[in-house]
Amino acid sequence: MRKGRKVTRYIAAYDTERVSAPSCAEACEAIIAAHKRYDMPATFFIVGRALEATPDLYRRLLDDPLFEIASHTYSHRMVRDHPFCGPAASVDTIREQILRGKEVVDRVFPDRRCIGLRPGCSFVDGLKGAAGVLKQVAEAGYEYVSSMAWGPDYTLPAPLNQSFSYADEGFAQIVEYPCHGWHDNVLKSMSKPGFWAEPRRLLAFPPLFPEAIPTGPITTAEDEFRYNSKVFIDRANQSGLDYVSLIWHPWSLALFDPKMRMLDLTFQYVREQGLEPTTYARMHHESVRNTDAN
Ligand SMILES: [Zn+2]
Repeated sequence: MRKGRKVTRYIAAYDTERVSAPSCAEACEAIIAAHKRYDMPATFFIVGRALEATPDLYRRLLDDPLFEIASHTYSHRMVRDHPFCGPAASVDTIREQILRGKEVVDRVFPDRRCIGLRPGCSFVDGLKGAAGVLKQVAEAGYEYVSSMAWGPDYTLPAPLNQSFSYADEGFAQIVEYPCHGWHDNVLKSMSKPGFWAEPRRLLAFPPLFPEAIPTGPITTAEDEFRYNSKVFIDRANQSGLDYVSLIWHPWSLALFDPKMRMLDLTFQYVREQGLEPTTYARMHHESVRNTDAN
């Protein structure tokens, strides 16, 4: 660890969403094992319906102080228009996505409190300009959203945007924590028909992260580490950013790399480089405490 500069946090996070095989719950077995090997915290954003399908399994896997359980909406419907994932759902459906998603997490994990929401697919501007959605988020009792996961014009990889509040929309108490890098399923061309369209026009020109652009879909865990984890961890760490957090999906990680070798490579690297592993909730609580103290 270098002296005289703050340590960049590292947050492992998973969009945990798929019920049918390969289910995210099954994939979590190997993921959790990797986390335990490295004593590595994580945030799991879980779709309410997926959690309802196998609550006991998720409880057995995730009821551990290492892990934060947050919401990935109730059933992955869009809370605003998205060019690849489809138009926004009706106002009532959006409300259900936000409210019921949190209710399910709170019911399955009664000793925790779900404070974070990551909407399905996320957006280039997060929830900027979406005061109606933020009102539902605030009323449901969330404290943060992680809804910004794309580069300019919905390109990938997503840049290393850092946190901000939605004060301009009238919700200064809601904090945005953007996420970074490739959506791992896209980097592997792993999207499945009916689950996610396969967008092909995805790269910004000129690229913001040339070292993160392979010549085609990657084929090995080492490539995933090299083109995604390492690039963004290095850039965040060298720039002294508050945090870096990649966009991972358990089902896609399991299809590509069932032994979770990429996680081993990434977690080992995080430890070697001296980043501080944490969760979104823990980072949020630290930041709120610091703000209150000022
Ligand atoms: Zn998702």
